Amino acid sequence: MSSATKSKIATSNLSTQKTMFKDMIVAKGLTKSFKNFTAVDGIDFTVKKGEIFAFLGPNGAGKSTTIKMLTTLLEPTGGALTLAGFDVLSQKSDVRNSFGIVFQDPSVDDELTALENMVLHATFYDLSKPETLKRSEELLNLVELWDRKDSLVKTFSGGMKRRLEIARGLLHEPKVLFLDEPTVGLDAQTRNLLWHYVARMSKTKDMTVFFTTHYLEEAEQYAERIAIIDHGHIIASGTTSSLKKQTSTKTLEEAYLKLTGHSTRDDSSDADLSARQRVRSRGRK
Ligand code: ADP
Repeated sequence: MSSATKSKIATSNLSTQKTMFKDMIVAKGLTKSFKNFTAVDGIDFTVKKGEIFAFLGPNGAGKSTTIKMLTTLLEPTGGALTLAGFDVLSQKSDVRNSFGIVFQDPSVDDELTALENMVLHATFYDLSKPETLKRSEELLNLVELWDRKDSLVKTFSGGMKRRLEIARGLLHEPKVLFLDEPTVGLDAQTRNLLWHYVARMSKTKDMTVFFTTHYLEEAEQYAERIAIIDHGHIIASGTTSSLKKQTSTKTLEEAYLKLTGHSTRDDSSDADLSARQRVRSRGRK
């Protein structure tokens, strides 16, 4: 092979890698239909490496369905979706190794200590014992739980459990961290602390963060970019300031209200009702 060809291949590999690492999540025409109901209807979005990205929308809009597709729990019925350069349908285990997730409901084991929860989690990712202990110490210190490492989780407050979840979600150093309403039910101080850790991890490890929240002030403060989904469609996306500009509003809350017709405070079962009406109207087509 000539050196010119070699250098051409090297350049093209480099540009593939660059694309892969510049865009951590790429969704094109992403769709999920359940029988005769389309929950996510051909959405396009890209999340860059190291970016903190908020995915907002009323109840029933399609947020959880999208997160489930991103985390391989649900298979898309249409479109293309990659995470860390891996295809969510054909490269599931690479995708799974590339992300961590923190759910709204604590999933840490109450009957184990904080450290035991970390060690158990490490076994899913084939981390060596010394590496597990080293990272656990670093992360439990980061979320200020190292001095409680040997306490049973059932003795922890809700905020402490959520902090432990975050530490655990970061254990295998994921490229992408999903946070599904991570601060719901937490007091303001714990919420701030939690965001402080997440933002720090994102910056120091160049970790991409994809989160949902009903607290728009969190999105306004921490998200570098926002997409708003409603009725399975992305109805707006951009930085907080561009969303405010697009809607001629002064706060993200006002912009969101104008775009969705919903306040996050009264966001409740009415959205599910409108989703059911949508099924009926589609059925009539
Ligand atoms: P969000 O997370 O934004 O509240 P979801 O993604 O959970 O919304 O749901 C979007 C819509 O899809 C809702 O109307 C919901 O009822 C519907 N949906 C979710 N999962 C299923 C399912 N397994 N079968 C049928 N409909 C579903």
